[in-house]
Amino acid sequence: GFPRRGIRGNFIPPIRSNGGNTGNTTSRISGKCDDALEDSTRRCLELLCGPDGELPEKLRNLEPRLIEHVSNEIMDRDPNVRWDDIAGLEHAKKCVTEMVIWPLLRPDIFKGCRSPGKGLLLFGPPGTGKTMIGKAIAGEAKATFFYISASSLTSKWIGEGEKLVRALFGVASCRQPAVIFVDEVDSLLSQRKSEGEHESSRRLKTQFLIEMEGFDGGNEQILLIGATNRPQELDEAARRRLTKRLYIPLPSSEARAWIIRNLLEKDGLFKLSKEDSDAICKLTEGYSGSDMKNLVKDATMGPLREALRQGIEITKLKKEDLRPVTLQDFDDALREVRPSVSSNELVMYEEWNKQFGSLA
Ligand code: ADP
Repeated sequence: GFPRRGIRGNFIPPIRSNGGNTGNTTSRISGKCDDALEDSTRRCLELLCGPDGELPEKLRNLEPRLIEHVSNEIMDRDPNVRWDDIAGLEHAKKCVTEMVIWPLLRPDIFKGCRSPGKGLLLFGPPGTGKTMIGKAIAGEAKATFFYISASSLTSKWIGEGEKLVRALFGVASCRQPAVIFVDEVDSLLSQRKSEGEHESSRRLKTQFLIEMEGFDGGNEQILLIGATNRPQELDEAARRRLTKRLYIPLPSSEARAWIIRNLLEKDGLFKLSKEDSDAICKLTEGYSGSDMKNLVKDATMGPLREALRQGIEITKLKKEDLRPVTLQDFDDALREVRPSVSSNELVMYEEWNKQFGSLA
């Protein structure tokens, strides 16, 4: 038969969906013979094809290997985080539900005056649950989750960042509703003046803003979430696109207690008494969620270290013989695991929140 024609008329799809009679034609997608595509790449492209067996228009001029990278490494079909896994942050959860999840679930209601912004910024100290919130949003809104760290675009994908960004937004638009989570978004959209050697990062930034513009206001069900612990580096253009800006602060004392309890109980280790857990919370003022996780990790090593000190060999050790974790273990761990955020930094976040935050 004749090679099929795509929307642009001269396009010949690279995928043989009709028994292989497109043969060895050179495709505009790969710039190579379609037979030269790796099987894995071909399978990946096939999954993105519409019911007509053709690749959606947005993906046609992109390099297959970049599409494959987005599908395999950046796209996460099952982010596996639920609201209930996240301690505290009640206010942020409530806002996100209204601003983001409902619109993704009911686009028909959230249009016109109610149409939501397509960009959300989560800012605050590192290790406070920003990534968890992104994943939970995707889970609750039944959306496909895409995770990319902006610094990898400039470090790992030197010279190819723009193309990868196009592939990312292209695949996301075929996988709607979609949530694109850009970690360390400051490194992409910073206001630092870029000169000479940074020409490429300027182009990357432009490409990114163009892509965002492309789905903003349209009917696309794509939400962009930027996360940063350096919000002060974002420029005006970035702030304008990330219309909702939520401060994700350090966990409260209750949230810290919850994190400890949750981690220990999940492992079936034991239950801390209320007094012990209160005492630990008093001593962990200023610890982030991930600091708490590290603290618990270190504390649960206590019983093990003690057994080994007593001369029991690690290979002969029985799990049943380990004593429970005690307040003393936490005391010891507190000396090892220090809070990672300084009070100066906290002041900076609060100031920025007052000036630019959505809920200040
Ligand atoms: P970031 O704010 O840097 O994106 P993450 O969401 O990646 O932080 O959190 C890192 C880890 O710290 C999580 O995997 C989780 O174990 C723990 N953590 C941080 N914040 C919370 C929280 N609010 N509730 C439960 N665990 C948390």
